[in-house]
Amino acid sequence: MNISELLKKKLESNQTVLTEFESKELLKEIGISVPDQKLTSTKEETVSAAKSIGFPVVLKLMAEDIVHKSDTGAVKLNIKNEDETANAFEELMNIPSQAEKLISVQKMANEPITELILGMTTDAQFGPALMFGIGGILVELLEDVSFRIAPITEYDAREMIKEIKGFPILDGYRGKPKADIDAIVKTLLKVSELVIKHEEIYEMDLNPVFIYDKGLICVDARIILKKPEKQD
Ligand code: ADP
Ligand code: MG
Repeated sequence: MNISELLKKKLESNQTVLTEFESKELLKEIGISVPDQKLTSTKEETVSAAKSIGFPVVLKLMAEDIVHKSDTGAVKLNIKNEDETANAFEELMNIPSQAEKLISVQKMANEPITELILGMTTDAQFGPALMFGIGGILVELLEDVSFRIAPITEYDAREMIKEIKGFPILDGYRGKPKADIDAIVKTLLKVSELVIKHEEIYEMDLNPVFIYDKGLICVDARIILKKPEKQD
């Protein structure tokens, strides 16, 4: 996939929001790992995709009007066999939505040390700003996040990670394994490079990224493009 072409095609059809599926295909393209994923629309396709990906899998309903998927029951985790896949498909297709419904079948990722959030927002004055935090309550309630204006250096990325208050969680807190900090650094640098190269990207939300003692994997992502300026 050519990233410039994908973004151009989206904008030409007046779409500014990439689906989770498209966002993760783009991340894969820049070397950020994501679970194996397939898009399906029928029960048969869904079951066969689940079998070819290998159990356990996750099924998610993709519809343009569903943004926070888990709030509407649109994420079915830890599906272990064909029967469970068929049932989950039925349940997902029964969720009310006005938009076209597709199913994303994806490999269920292993339990991480913790969930991370990596993001990018465009500041009116400074342009693209990168964000890093530890997922869940730390980000939602305590707003324990760090920011840097892009482009960032490796040194900046290491500082972003170390300066959050939750850093001990990544550093072997209470006998847990140490998180792969180098993998986070590399990922932050890849996001930085991407947004500098593609000015049409307005916002990115990698939420969550599962971090391990070796490597990481992004299980949900959302990329938003800038509205094209009106020509008159
Ligand atoms: P939402 O739109 O609600 O943010 P997500 O796609 O992030 O939906 O899924 C909700 C939660 O389910 C995630 O925060 C993560 O904990 C878990 N999850 C999602 N996808 C996977 C996956 N492929 N493997 C393991 N866990 C997953
Ligand atoms: Mg999410």
